[in-house]
Amino acid sequence: MPTYTAPTRDTRFVVNEVLDLASYGDLPGFESATPDMIDTVINEAGKFCSEVLAPLNRAGDEHGCTRNDDGSVTTPPGFKEAFQQFREAGWGTISAPEEFGGQGMPHVLGFVIEEFISSANQAFGMYPGLTNGAVSALLAKGSPEQQAKYVPKMIANEWLGTMNLTEPQCGTDLGLIRTRAEPQADGSYAITGTKIFISAGEHDLTEQIVHLVLAKTPGAPDSTKGISLFVVPKVLVNDDGSLGERNGVSCGSIEHKMGIHGNSTCVLNYDEAKGWMVGEENKGLAAMFIMMNAARLGVGIQGFSQAEAAYQNAVAYALDRRQGRALTGPAEPDEKADPIIVHPDVRRMLMDAKAFTEGFRAFALWGALLVDLTHKAASEEERAEADMLLGLMTPVIKGYGTDKGFETAVNMQQVFGGHGYIKEWGMEQFVRDARITQIYEGTNGIQAMDLCGRKLAQNGGAAIQAFFKLVGEEAAAAKDDETLGPLAERLEKALNEQQAATMWFMQNAMQNPNNLGAGAHHYMHIMGIVTLGLMWLRMAKVAQARLAEGGEGGESDRAFYEAKLVTARYYAERFLPDAGALRRKLEAGSESVMALGEEAFATAA
Ligand SMILES: Cc1cc2nc3c(=O)[nH]c(=O)nc-3n(C[C@H](O)[C@H](O)[C@H](O)COP(=O)(O)OP(=O)(O)OC[C@H]3O[C@@H](n4cnc5c(N)ncnc54)[C@H](O)[C@@H]3O)c2cc1C
Repeated sequence: MPTYTAPTRDTRFVVNEVLDLASYGDLPGFESATPDMIDTVINEAGKFCSEVLAPLNRAGDEHGCTRNDDGSVTTPPGFKEAFQQFREAGWGTISAPEEFGGQGMPHVLGFVIEEFISSANQAFGMYPGLTNGAVSALLAKGSPEQQAKYVPKMIANEWLGTMNLTEPQCGTDLGLIRTRAEPQADGSYAITGTKIFISAGEHDLTEQIVHLVLAKTPGAPDSTKGISLFVVPKVLVNDDGSLGERNGVSCGSIEHKMGIHGNSTCVLNYDEAKGWMVGEENKGLAAMFIMMNAARLGVGIQGFSQAEAAYQNAVAYALDRRQGRALTGPAEPDEKADPIIVHPDVRRMLMDAKAFTEGFRAFALWGALLVDLTHKAASEEERAEADMLLGLMTPVIKGYGTDKGFETAVNMQQVFGGHGYIKEWGMEQFVRDARITQIYEGTNGIQAMDLCGRKLAQNGGAAIQAFFKLVGEEAAAAKDDETLGPLAERLEKALNEQQAATMWFMQNAMQNPNNLGAGAHHYMHIMGIVTLGLMWLRMAKVAQARLAEGGEGGESDRAFYEAKLVTARYYAERFLPDAGALRRKLEAGSESVMALGEEAFATAA
């Protein structure tokens, strides 16, 4: 049975020492996030996730969700009770706005909790997780009445939310949506259509589920320009806020799927369900994008959270399992064999995982800080700068984070050899659960196209230029340092590869857009590699300073900071060079990718 312990020490390192959250103390909401408060939140959330949610992960996978004959859905044993504890502890309210009942603390802390929840139990975390995105969309585009009606209850997790985009004929291409919204005399709309793959679409955790649904009004343009967003509660809400009649939305079936069995993935049938438009007519996609961007960051965290959980179990196994001898001679001659952690190939996998998970934690929490700064930075200029960087980073957090998260989960399964393939050890669940993160919330191919087709060129390339400047300056400043210099030099080299790849796109994608499409995946990975390089430089800088001060809390802290420096070096030597190979793939262009006629793909008899 796999176990999970929330990585509280590493999280405190990133939040307190690398991001230095206390230095933002004069921003709204940050004043209450004192180091003591931050430590309490991290430790208590960690405890809840390790002790309450993680033990339910296996049962959630084995039992899954059940659709009953009346269309209701029962979640796995223990989920309802755990959800009640989660709600009562207020874990969902940490970074929600105070005027709607939240605690108004930095999003950085909200993201910390999301990571812990998702590592402990990804399927469980999706129930409150999607609600956060729905709240963001309602806060940005909903009317004051809609906000007052739904948001406080959703923030308190008395009601949960969903997002409804996908239909059988319409996945990536939302212009194909068929769900209709007929205006009614009372100002509401009658929503009719079928949505598929709706996460948390029906369940028994809350009485009310608030669906945000994309649909088309009569005569709307037959493209993405004709989509509107509607709020459709499962149960109609009376004027006094109490729950009234059941609305015309029902769960037709639930999917049997590869992973996240504890989360219900529903077909939802809308049969003249009462809905209310959110924001302007035909501008629904922009409103839904607010929700999707929040959710994309969440999914990036999910991908890496599975890598973290799998890594912890692989380390324990590698220390315990004995096979063969160290190449340099027996490490433990009194035993019949050495623990497999002595083998460089096993070490390689563990170090890859360590370098990725710790690097990505710093990246994701930096992303969370950008979310905070977008809303709360003191000047308009700083808010705009944070918003621009966040827009650029969102597809990378989602796409790179989940590609590497899945790859890492597979490698950690590999550490177990054949036992990794056997259910009993639980490693295959991490792999199955992580796999969906590359697919939903926009496939990673779509994330790469968002990055390269939209974000690079936006505002004349202002965001990517700002990123280049940031990385270039931090690398240059560290180059002469004896410890940090080699990492900084390699980071600069990887940055040069990214700049060259960007230039190649500028020169070759205009006349042939297939060159962009064929290289976008590689570019997204180059950008992920460079960004994690920046994170490792920042972490190494802090570790070096702490060691120079003599370590904070004695020997264990010295070991922690020393390990950071070694892992930073590993990252520099083993991750950063990949940027060059990826650039060369990208610069090969689309010719061989697109050269074959479609008939050449068919298998000859
Ligand atoms: C478990 C699960 C939960 C989900 N939860 C939700 C949910 O809560 N709400 C919701 O609305 N949806 C949900 N989805 C749907 C999910 O977001 C879609 O499956 C996903 O967006 C892809 O759409 P599709 O499956 O139709 O694939 P398609 O769009 O058919 O794509 C197939 C392949 O073609 C590629 N492709 C398509 N168009 C392009 C293009 N223009 N350029 C390059 N490549 C392209 C894709 O990258 C992919 O590899 C969920 C799906 C699953 C499996």
